[in-house]
Amino acid sequence: MTTVPNQPRDRIAELIAPLRVRPGATVRLPKDFDPGYTGGISDKEAGVELLQRGVTMLADLQSRLAAQQTDGLLVVLQALDAAGKDGTIRHVMSGVNPQGVRVHSFKVPSAEELDHDFLWRYGCRLPARGEIAIFNRSHYEEVLVVRVHKELLDRQRVPRKGAVWRRRFEAINAFERHLTGNGFRIVKLFLNVSKEEQRKRLLARIDRPEKNWKFSEADIRERGYWRDYQRAYADMLTHTSTEHAPWHVIPADHKWFSRIAAAAVIVNALDGIDPQYPVVDTQARRELLEVRDALEHG
Ligand code: AMP
Ligand code: MG
Repeated sequence: MTTVPNQPRDRIAELIAPLRVRPGATVRLPKDFDPGYTGGISDKEAGVELLQRGVTMLADLQSRLAAQQTDGLLVVLQALDAAGKDGTIRHVMSGVNPQGVRVHSFKVPSAEELDHDFLWRYGCRLPARGEIAIFNRSHYEEVLVVRVHKELLDRQRVPRKGAVWRRRFEAINAFERHLTGNGFRIVKLFLNVSKEEQRKRLLARIDRPEKNWKFSEADIRERGYWRDYQRAYADMLTHTSTEHAPWHVIPADHKWFSRIAAAAVIVNALDGIDPQYPVVDTQARRELLEVRDALEHG
């Protein structure tokens, strides 16, 4: 039983299929995923209605998820700087009830966080049943920024250093399997921006005064490690796209398309949960009617 008609569901499934990273596949970047892909949709105008429909479906599904209180959803957002993580969150979540959604932005870890195992701070911010949690950066930074800048690993004081990335992939897969086995779906989105488009967006952060606050010298420094990041991302996609928690690579050079695609993957995951408003049983319904009767005549 569901209110979502089949046609948009099929359209959504069709739209996101090419973005999914097949578990077990070896990913090469930038070769395997085109940041400029737009799924055959001609332009922004053609995409507006599609995004609106996705946002509406998401609002309905989120409301049911909150009412049903059995499952939760974790949305993991990863990207290089200026790929559009913040804008994606703002647009895609524009229709949902803020009470049911939490956004957590992960920054450089604190001293307390560094005193724990590498998954601890993420584990503390997981969604509850009925909730959607969005990780703006996530446990995946532990195999991305920490891999590109190995001095960060020293700060973590891990005892055994051998095969550290392979062991982290395994730990992450086990962590996510534990969650999915306990009623928490995981949507993992990599917003894939090209180096040229990132250059334009960083320039805009300098040229447009209202964007100056977003500019960070660190972004320019990190851009110098572009190839290392592409390699780390490709290896992450290769080792952590699983049947229980697959990655989707969201083409991010056209913001309008990346928002449609992100909404589509999230709607598809919620639709898979198929949350329903709880229905009261006959006895409870009878009691409700008695109360109603009393209210009406009192
Ligand atoms: P932003 O998302 O632009 O606010 O930047 C957050 C910064 O925190 C980025 O430079 C990330 O590389 C950094 N960061 C996030 N997670 C980690 C981590 N686990 N270890 C080190 N740096 C991190
Ligand atoms: Mg930034």
